[in-house]
Amino acid sequence: MHDRDRVLREVDAIADEAVAFAAELIRIPTVNPPGDAYEDCARAIGERLRRDGFDVEYLVAEGSAEHTRLHPRVNVVGTRDGTARAPVLHINGHFDVVPPGAGWTVEPFAGVVRDGRLYGRGSCDMKAGIAAGLAAAEAIRRAGVSLPGTIEISGTVDEESGGFAGVAWLARQGRVAAWRTDYVIIPEPLGVDRICIGHRGVYWFEVILRGRIAHGSMPFLGVSAIEHMGVLLEALRNELMPTLADRVTRMPVVPPGAARATLNVNAVLGGQANDAVQSPCVADRCRAVFDRRFLIEEGFDQAKGEVVDLLERLAQRVPDLQYELNDMMVVHPVQTPEGSPLVASLRRSIAEVLGREAPLVASPGTYDQKHFARIAGVEHCVAYGPGVLELAHQPDEWCSVDDLVNSTKVIALTALDLLGAT
Ligand SMILES: [Zn+2]
Repeated sequence: MHDRDRVLREVDAIADEAVAFAAELIRIPTVNPPGDAYEDCARAIGERLRRDGFDVEYLVAEGSAEHTRLHPRVNVVGTRDGTARAPVLHINGHFDVVPPGAGWTVEPFAGVVRDGRLYGRGSCDMKAGIAAGLAAAEAIRRAGVSLPGTIEISGTVDEESGGFAGVAWLARQGRVAAWRTDYVIIPEPLGVDRICIGHRGVYWFEVILRGRIAHGSMPFLGVSAIEHMGVLLEALRNELMPTLADRVTRMPVVPPGAARATLNVNAVLGGQANDAVQSPCVADRCRAVFDRRFLIEEGFDQAKGEVVDLLERLAQRVPDLQYELNDMMVVHPVQTPEGSPLVASLRRSIAEVLGREAPLVASPGTYDQKHFARIAGVEHCVAYGPGVLELAHQPDEWCSVDDLVNSTKVIALTALDLLGAT
């Protein structure tokens, strides 16, 4: 029997184990913030990797601001060397999950399997993906296939809050780097039959408007920062947003609405914070936080420049309008290069397993690809994994068992292909 067929047969044989392992990970409530139970989850992944023939390292993000005694940031990396130790395929999954929120009809951390679906917070985003990566490597081993290339599998922290103590930290330490890491697959829930090649850029900024306090019965004696925020929000809506909506990227961002440049008002806080007791005052401060998603064609300088221009225009037009603009976070867009052998191999594997031509997509939000690309310099990186993106962060999050099994097959065949199986 051909290697590929033997490996596919082994995936079917260990499917139940893979689902059980994903459920085991869901039962470790790695909620972020604040970053609960990270060490337990890293150990669970590490022990499974060791059982499956990997050398295991625990990499604690010492020195990062997020790493505290109460909430240690523990990452885990497993390595299974091939006979030639090259090339290296790195499969990375974040094991932090967002808080469950309200509205669940199943227990969010029980790891329940019902009607072919694995339920729980983190099921699709992305503990099923981690389980798929491990199962793919284990199926290759059980099929007795010896690969020239090396498989690495990592479980990392904090993706949901930026990944700075996770993939970004590993990249800064040189644990993932262009010289040692050839390909990266991140099994985020982008869908079992499509390949995600990157994301738009992010510019989070705050605008603080300052007015002058006065008695609320004589507002004409003061300057209301809230009134001025109203002017700013209206100017953004009338002057900037229509321009943004006209810009469409050539990257295949899904859903289509996210292929445009967008701006979201994330928060507005003005006047007195305490909503129980108020005293009559003109608000002398109003702060708003904005989330601008910019296109690869726009770039950061343009995105920020437009905000500065608009604020300057308002400051000239509106008497006493004083603003302060602060950058909070900047993530540059990333895109896997055209003609990447990783993308070509995944496409062949998806066609073989699912009988479908896989479209390329780009993610509406960012994920750890930015750190692999921008810090580690690994350009052949994609997101490909089980689960439906729209279910991520929702109540009753689930991942289909069939998706988990099929994506395991796709990842296993891709590993055979890239790592030089004969
Ligand atoms: Zn995720």
